[in-house]
Amino acid sequence: MKNPAVEFINVTKQFNGDPAVYDLNLSLAPGEILALVGPSGCGKTTSLRLVAGFEQPDAGEIILDGKTVAGGRGFVQPENRGVGMVFQDYALFPHINVVENVAFGLNGASKTKRIEEAESMLNLVGLSGYGQRLPHELSGGERQRVALARALAPKPILVLLDEPFSNLDADLRLRMREEVRVILKGIGATAIFVTHDQEEALYIGDRLAVLHHGRLEQIGSPEEVFHQPVNHFVAEFMGGSDFLPGEVVSGGIQTEIGVVQQDVDLSVGTQVELALRADDVSFSPDTKTNSLILARHFKGALNVYRLRLPSGRLLHAYGPHTETLRPGTPVQVNIEPGHELACFPLMEALKNSK
Ligand code: ATP
Repeated sequence: MKNPAVEFINVTKQFNGDPAVYDLNLSLAPGEILALVGPSGCGKTTSLRLVAGFEQPDAGEIILDGKTVAGGRGFVQPENRGVGMVFQDYALFPHINVVENVAFGLNGASKTKRIEEAESMLNLVGLSGYGQRLPHELSGGERQRVALARALAPKPILVLLDEPFSNLDADLRLRMREEVRVILKGIGATAIFVTHDQEEALYIGDRLAVLHHGRLEQIGSPEEVFHQPVNHFVAEFMGGSDFLPGEVVSGGIQTEIGVVQQDVDLSVGTQVELALRADDVSFSPDTKTNSLILARHFKGALNVYRLRLPSGRLLHAYGPHTETLRPGTPVQVNIEPGHELACFPLMEALKNSK
């Protein structure tokens, strides 16, 4: 069996006594793309810098392609790790042309050979014919493709991408994430892609690792992390969940708007909270209820409604763009997820939301 391309084993890194990364365990198979996601300050960049060799761990070990590069038996300098990096600000050399930028990290072969390889990388990222331009003669998206070509040219063991699309506008960002995934998959690159954008993480990662205060909260496929968040934090971070308190009863969970029928692995009487997304909630006008529409936001393809339940708690729900209901309309609110909802014991939820 092949070695994992990269392993973090119990890696901790502190700054001034505060752990930026705490006891991190991660392993990537060759050819796998991991999206590392979490809010600002959760330790994403520090994790990348540790694997690139710009930081040394205080504890634990980092292994690249079977070789310890930090911790344990020593430290391998960044330039000897076989790791390519793509940064948010492109970090291209402004005074040399595009093809020379890409050829920069290629050692050993003759200059002609290096330029040839760089040209073929430019071709791979869709920029053949751009080699003679200077970086300032390119658009942001093109510059980022050059940066990717430069990182991939030496055939690294691992490519690290740190918020690579942050400087691009929304439309281009969407296109770039599709293109970059196709390129990385096309050459079988192993990559860690850092983003604070949940949707980008769901799109680009074969797996997602969710960090919070330097700790790994959950790792899994995009579907697992989205549909089966392990705690309140992940549910909230991965896609705007609302939370509804309830109590485990026989056959489901009793909430203020009725029983949600599903299997629950907790004893009857346990106080829980359900994580609900807007597509789990439906509603219809009904004058005999104490729930009402508080606000409507038109999103083009649909309306997003903010609903107030009798307790004052708020839920969000989608409605069709073809019908408009006014704030103040009394509504009957139902929970109709069509799948098992994530559900957390209330004490645990309080602990994790801190
Ligand atoms: P962002 O999304 O804002 O870039 P991040 O998840 O990449 O955040 P890191 O940059 O890894 O977070 O920072 C993690 C924590 O470590 C933060 O609290 C940060 O202030 C701290 N930190 C990072 N680098 C240093 C440093 N060189 N010296 C001191 N503290 C640092």
